[in-house]
Amino acid sequence: MDFIDLKKQYQRIKPSVQKRINTILDCSGYIMGKEITELEEKLASYVGTKYCLTCSSGTDALLLPLLAKGIGPGDAVFTSTFTFFATAEVIALCGATPVFVDIQKDTYNIDPEKLHEEIQKVKNQGLLKPKAIIPVDIFGLCADYDTINIIAQEFDLYMIEDAAQSFGATYKSKKAGSFGDIAATSFFPAKPLGCYGDGGAVFFNDPEMVELIKSLRVHGQGTDKYENVRIGINGRMDTIQAAILLAKLEIFEDELLKRTAIAKKYSTALNNKFITPYMPKNDICAWAQYSLQCENRDSVLERLKKEQIPSAIYYPKPLHLQKAFDYLHCKAGNYPVAEQIAQKIFSLPMHPYLEEKEQEKIISVLMNL
Ligand SMILES: *Cc1c(COP(=O)(O)O)cnc(C)c1O
Repeated sequence: MDFIDLKKQYQRIKPSVQKRINTILDCSGYIMGKEITELEEKLASYVGTKYCLTCSSGTDALLLPLLAKGIGPGDAVFTSTFTFFATAEVIALCGATPVFVDIQKDTYNIDPEKLHEEIQKVKNQGLLKPKAIIPVDIFGLCADYDTINIIAQEFDLYMIEDAAQSFGATYKSKKAGSFGDIAATSFFPAKPLGCYGDGGAVFFNDPEMVELIKSLRVHGQGTDKYENVRIGINGRMDTIQAAILLAKLEIFEDELLKRTAIAKKYSTALNNKFITPYMPKNDICAWAQYSLQCENRDSVLERLKKEQIPSAIYYPKPLHLQKAFDYLHCKAGNYPVAEQIAQKIFSLPMHPYLEEKEQEKIISVLMNL
């Protein structure tokens, strides 16, 4: 059994993937081939934004908007402490200061009330200028955008949605990737929509960002290839990765339905014994992870391992306690909800090709501990 079974998915799309890759090999359009624009158009139309630009990873998709907005030293950027390292890493990379916010205990997403408090605190201290917010759609569930939008407006903050785990999800009928001023997603192989290497994309409606992000994506290029007008990065997506994503996009809706069915089955069966994930009633979660909480996590994971059932812990340590952020002088106890959840949470195998037999075995092991 695999935690995420990409081999079964490949068997399903093999002819289409191979045909598309061969087309690129035949014409050697490895860099910025026509598949890139084809994919960008399809992704924008799927998410419902005017523009989509692909890039080399989810991390670069978060970095590009920060660079585009000139966010840097002296600026405070607010984000959840319960996320993958990259969300806060890019803030520090561009010279700004990450300010962490605790999460809600049911959704695991940034807590809007605490966000408001943290922004007010930074404002009152007067040392840093509040500039941006990066809400994260953790495990594929959209953050509380209605409330976060009001806060962003109140403090005039730029909002970057970290949709790395939520491609395909919805919030009040709008797709993940369409919230905030700009959104970033990742196509790392294990994400809900993944390529066969690294990849990412940004989504936005502001026409002024198009040329700016295109330029930053290729070394701050000007109108001519060897004219550089700003400092940028090498952040293009490989054409081959775009071709793979085009093939996978065709089966994506079906995969999303399968993930939802698997999540529902897990929750119905495990609800009495574990804290199961928050299930949006009218919205779709992309189920990047299916995570449970329990008090005796070590022994549960031990037992799963014995039965050859893979599991994982996302995330064992909130970002404010990571060594790399020692310089921010956060302490244990600063963000108690995230800290407690980090000690109890673990994730089960979740992918569209998880067979009924396999899922029943997982459930039976967990219910008969
Ligand atoms: C995966 C992930 C990223 C980074 O994406 P990469 O493509 O691996 O660079 C950023 N934020 C979150 C929440 C992620 O899960």
